[in-house]
Amino acid sequence: MKHTPFLGWDHYAQLEADRVNAATEARHPEWLGLPKSRPQAVDQGKKVYFTGQPCKHGHVTPRGMRKGCLGCYIQRHGLSDAL
Ligand SMILES: [Zn+2]
Repeated sequence: MKHTPFLGWDHYAQLEADRVNAATEARHPEWLGLPKSRPQAVDQGKKVYFTGQPCKHGHVTPRGMRKGCLGCYIQRHGLSDAL
């Protein structure tokens, strides 16, 4: 596993709070059952993960290993009702 610098417990608590808020606001509580990061998804053999942090286009949606941000994917393919 790749080593990531430790940024302090407050930082991680904030990330977790953002993640819970984002899933709740999107009305997708099931997103919280996804891995929290790409390395975690790799560990668990999952194809999708949810960080709770916005992508560079501002979507707070799950991300796929291959397809990237789900919000971007939906926009790119004109699937506006998919979420
Ligand atoms: Zn996006």
